[in-house]
Formats: sequence, structure tokens, C-alpha cells
Amino acid sequence: MEPYQWTIHEARERLDKGEISSVELTRHVLARIDAVEPKVQAFNTVTAARALADAEAADRMIAGGNAQPLTGIPIALKDNMITEGVETTCSSKILSGYVPPFDGTISARMKAAGAVLVGKTNLDEFAMGSSTENSATKTTRNPWDPERAPGGSSGGSAAAVAADMCLGSFGSDTGGSIRQPGALCGVVGFKPTYGRVSRFGLVAFASSLDQIGPFTRDVHDAAILLAASAGSDPLDSTCSDRPVDDYVAGLSAGVKGRTIGVPKEYFIEGTDPAVAAAVQDGIRQLEAQGATVREISLPHTQYATACYYLVATAEASSNLGRYDGVRYGLREEPGDLLSMYMATREAGFGTEVKRRIMLGTYALSAGYYDAYYKKAQQVRTLILRDFETAFDAGVDLVVTPTAPTGAFKIGEKSGDPLQMYLSDIFTISCNLAGLPGISVPCGFDGNHMPIGLQLIGKRFDESTLLAAAHAYQQGTDFHTRRPQL
Ligand code: GLN
Repeated sequence: MEPYQWTIHEARERLDKGEISSVELTRHVLARIDAVEPKVQAFNTVTAARALADAEAADRMIAGGNAQPLTGIPIALKDNMITEGVETTCSSKILSGYVPPFDGTISARMKAAGAVLVGKTNLDEFAMGSSTENSATKTTRNPWDPERAPGGSSGGSAAAVAADMCLGSFGSDTGGSIRQPGALCGVVGFKPTYGRVSRFGLVAFASSLDQIGPFTRDVHDAAILLAASAGSDPLDSTCSDRPVDDYVAGLSAGVKGRTIGVPKEYFIEGTDPAVAAAVQDGIRQLEAQGATVREISLPHTQYATACYYLVATAEASSNLGRYDGVRYGLREEPGDLLSMYMATREAGFGTEVKRRIMLGTYALSAGYYDAYYKKAQQVRTLILRDFETAFDAGVDLVVTPTAPTGAFKIGEKSGDPLQMYLSDIFTISCNLAGLPGISVPCGFDGNHMPIGLQLIGKRFDESTLLAAAHAYQQGTDFHTRRPQL
């Protein structure tokens, strides 16, 4: 096995034993990026010089006996996370050339932990999409088949881990953008509870739904990245003050004695039979590890996609009002101030972003607000109550497929927004309810593309969720399979 293929916990052991330095490990990872990035196109920016400087600093921390779990570990950040001195584009023309003068909390915490930043990864423009095809910078390829999409919106972060171009990465998940690309690229994708990880410096898409979380090769690594990123932040008032559990120690709890609910609304027509079969196998595996499985009902599931596309677009239309040519990136100057706003937004935003701004503005406008936005908020409450009812009845975790199909062909859905929106049908409810969810590899479809199994937990009960997902990986080896590049 090459060093760039190691898990984070494996690399930690070797770094601590002095078998390899962070500079050496980082050189291996940068060489891997040079070798496969031309095929995968996962990065908007590769920060090679910064990575080597970070690695040197990390080696000094290790030599001084000050290593933390991530010290010296090469990671990547989605390019909607603010990084001081490193261009942050959101894969949008409107932010082109924007170099932030400050760090967001995720970037600052990774720096403080001694992690090595190798680059910023591609995404659907402003995280709006499910395939990364809405990027204005490049088309990221699925490492398992370059004709296929990596999923989205955090497709670059997922593909970078799957193609061994970093040991772990962070993405953001508003409606499934960590779990769905995790599933389609065959890696672990983990969205923590809303408010578990600070959003300060995460460029806002839909503020009541956005959440940062990790992509990793296994659940153990996801626990490590969550522990290093979670916890209260005075710079984000929606970030919770609850103490951060010891997620790594909690992994050994397993899934024995847990009750897992299988919602009947998630095993529906339109799901690839190979996906349904792999998830059923996964459920049997959880049972074999000691879980009790029972069928449950989440009756408002059918409204989740419609509800999400009102709430998310409404919030986006407001959040994206700040891109006007005055403060960041692109500026078109055809004449007076109003023409500048209009020409900048016309030239700077892509089609999908404009569609969302228009949808959201419509849903919020006088006369339509009650019928659309307010109604969607009421439906959101019903969706949350569905989960609460199941949890109150003794269910600890909910298990579902992550996405209805494996990776689809590039171009297959990009002309049909509704088809694309349906890719998120199984991931969206979790965001609307604010719950933590994880996708783990659980098989392959007829095209040899990875399939993901989703587990959803109670609010702030990441420990139970991670322990169950870890138990699943103790009995399966799907997470150890790698694409041939
Ligand atoms: N695919 C969904 C959307 O387009 C979710 C995106 C996300 O989670 N950022 O809105």
C-alpha cells in the first residue's frame, strides 16, 4: 500500500513512530495529485507550496511532542470554505480572484490542529447541484469511471478522497451534498447534526440547512475529523455549545442492542434494484452485529423534496444578494450603479444559481409567502416530527439508501433540473430535520459503481451513529475497495 492510500489513523501511527515524516507523506500525496488530477479534475486550487510549509511545521510539532490527531495529515477543503490567502471561488465566476483576508473556523481549526492543506476542491456553483456539473471552473470525474459524475455538490472533496489525492477532506451538506457524493464515489460521507460544526466562513447557501462534515476512507477517520472540527464557536451563533463527545472512544460501543428503523417510504419505485438489494444486505449485516431491525413509517417523506426546494431557494435568494460587484470578485461596469449590479450578476452567476434565486425570490414575495415559504416551514416541522415519533418509539437509528442510483453519466441529468433534484430524495429530510447522517459504501451496481447505505441518528447523537457505522465496516470490506486509475 502506498502512503497516499493510508487511512488517517494509520498515517498517525506511522508519523508518531517516526516511520515517515509529514513532509515525506505530503510529497507522496502531491505526486499522486500530479499523477491523477488530470483525469479526475477534483481541485480548483492545489496548494503545493503551502502544503509543504504546513508539513514542515507539523514535523516540528511532532518532534516537540505536541502532535494532535491531525498533525501532519494531508487534507482538502471544499472551495466554499474561506481560507486566508488561498483563493476561494465557490466554483462561481462571480467570486473569481477572491482571496480571503481571513480564515473560516474550519480552516482555522485545521491549521491549529497541524493538518496539511493540499488544496481547495471543486463543487457545484455555490453548492447548488448533485453532480458537480454546475461548476463554472471544471468538470470533476468519478474516479470509478471518468464518464460518470462524482455526485455533488461536494464532488471534488469526495473524488479527491476516492482517488487518494488526500487522506480526508471536508464538504458541506445542505440537502445531501456530503452523503450523496460519498455514496457515488465509494467513500464515507458524514453530515453532523445542524450546529455541531461551525459554519463561520462557510459561504452561505441555505443557512438553516448548511452543515460542514468530513469525507474519509473509513468511519474511524470520520470520527477523528469530527472531533477535530466540532464544538462551540463564538463566531457562529447557530453553532451548539454542547460538549463534544469522544467519538473515537465511542466507536467500540458497536450496534449491539440498538434498534434500527427501516422507513417503508424509502424503499420505493425508481430506486435501482441493485441499490435496494445492497441496502437490504447492509441491514442484515447490522442485524448480524446485534441490532434489532423494525419497519417504521415517516409519512411526510413524499413532501421533502418540494419543501426543501422552497426553503433552500428562499434562503439562497437572500444570501446571494451580497454578490453585487461592489465587494468581491467579478465587477462589470457598464455605466451607473444599478447597471453594474445587474451586469455583474448576469455575467457572474450560472444558470442553476439564477434559477434558484428566481425561485426563492418568488417564494418569498408578498402574496406568495404564505402559500409557499410559510407552508414549506410548516411541512418542515411535520418532517421533523416524523423522526421524533420514531425515536420516541424506541428507534435509535434510521437506515435507508443514500441515493436512488449509483453514479450517472456526465450530461445524463444536467438538462433536466427536476431529475437532478430527485437525486437527493433520500438525503434531504435529514437536513430539514437537522439530524446527523452518514453514508458508508455497501456494494456496487450493475455498472460497477459504488452504492451507499445511509444511517440517520438523533440530534447530537453522533456517537451512536458512528459506532453503528463502524460496526458495519467491521463486518464488510466495501470501504477498502479502490478505483483503478
Ligand atoms: N443537491 C441539493 C441541491 O442542489 C443539495 C445541495 C447541497 O447539499 N449543497 O440543493
